[in-house]
Amino acid sequence: MRPPGNNLAKVCEPWQPSDETRQKWYNAPTLANEQSQPMENRLNPQPGINWQAVAAEATGYLRDLIRIDTTNPPGNETAAARYLADVLAGADISAQVVGPTPDRCSLIARLPSHGTGHQPPLLLLSHLDVVPAEPGEWTHPPFAGVLDDDGVIWGRGTVDCKGLVVQELVVLLLLQRAGIPLNRDVVFAATADEEAGGLYGLAWLLAEYPHLLDAGYCINEGGGEGIRLNGRTFYLCQTGEKGISPLRLTAHGRPGHAAVPHDNNAVVHLAHALDRLANAELPLRLTNTVAAFLAALGDDYPLLEQQMGDVLHAIQHNTLSPTMLQAGSKVNVIPSTAEAQVDCRIIPGQTQDEVLAQMRAIIGDLPVDVETTIFTPGYEGAYDGDLYRLIETVLPEHDPQGVVVPFLMTGGTDGRHLGPRGVSVYGFMPAQPEPGLSLFDLAHAHDERITVDNLIFGTRVLYDIVQRFCAAT
Ligand SMILES: [Zn+2]
Repeated sequence: MRPPGNNLAKVCEPWQPSDETRQKWYNAPTLANEQSQPMENRLNPQPGINWQAVAAEATGYLRDLIRIDTTNPPGNETAAARYLADVLAGADISAQVVGPTPDRCSLIARLPSHGTGHQPPLLLLSHLDVVPAEPGEWTHPPFAGVLDDDGVIWGRGTVDCKGLVVQELVVLLLLQRAGIPLNRDVVFAATADEEAGGLYGLAWLLAEYPHLLDAGYCINEGGGEGIRLNGRTFYLCQTGEKGISPLRLTAHGRPGHAAVPHDNNAVVHLAHALDRLANAELPLRLTNTVAAFLAALGDDYPLLEQQMGDVLHAIQHNTLSPTMLQAGSKVNVIPSTAEAQVDCRIIPGQTQDEVLAQMRAIIGDLPVDVETTIFTPGYEGAYDGDLYRLIETVLPEHDPQGVVVPFLMTGGTDGRHLGPRGVSVYGFMPAQPEPGLSLFDLAHAHDERITVDNLIFGTRVLYDIVQRFCAAT
């Protein structure tokens, strides 16, 4: 898998705001007057920042971004990137709108550090593209940016991942407005194409403009939601991701007339191979991250197992899910081959050869070839570094029952392009548990939505983390 590179035109635009835009966003907190949300009773006071105004401002950004349809494919993220550049320019933060083609641009902005003693930069990462939506299945149209009377924002991307785009955007704006001197650069990147692997987004940016993304630390999507258990709320901070190694199985047999069955039918061989894979007990592979997670849960593990047993199994094993089948062209012809594709997710540290050897051992003597179509290794970051420790400290200040625990993600995010490069990546979009509104369940689902309360809860937590991590003392 190679990112599209030199054969594609580079587009790199420093963005200049119009006077109207400057006017609109420079005094953004006054927007609080335009929308009334009952936030004042639910937000604790925090010196220096009018969080009620920030809530209204952030809500406006998120509704605007949802209305910019960035369904991938085709993506068309440039309009969203330009929107962000406009907002940032209104606060005198210059940004780059950059991508492999004019309609697949990402946005990158940087708040520079001051003085001496520079520390490795912190990257606030999110993505602009969203997965498709079926409008007929939604309560409110997925690209209308509806804010209902209960303070819920509806739309594709509210959870994955425009909500985080807005939280990180607002953190940047607040740092800038406060004029806080920084000991390290804070980089904000909202990328294209994450939902399709990032080849037109982060992978391309790292290949073509790595200096724009230079960072030692990253806060990304992929974790942060709280799970309530026995009076405690466990906030899962993603510190690693499983690898991706999809498999193609090709069964071989003897072709012939279907009216005369024989025992060398490729379709039957394939069915047997899939049966063996589906029933195989793959060995337990306990990573340090998962061991620490299980230790933190302690006696509450069985409770969590009732809620998300499949997920807990998946973070401790390689997994296999057959998803695609192809064989034959006519009902009365036995084909010579039959093919299946199997989604395979692997524990960090496993190599392509190990995975293939494991699969071949399971398939055994059947006449079925197995190959990997793509191999992206998993990664596991530090869950005891300085940024992680700070996340552990800050979260309970906003939720006294909150406990931060490290977590291995079963799926993939743009973090997989950074983790193996030595960047400490933390998937952390803080969200309090709300009945029926699990972000984990709503990502990619019908009726994706987020409450204004949780949008701002996450913003406040992230602001505290970033401000303390990056402010010069
Ligand atoms: Zn996402």
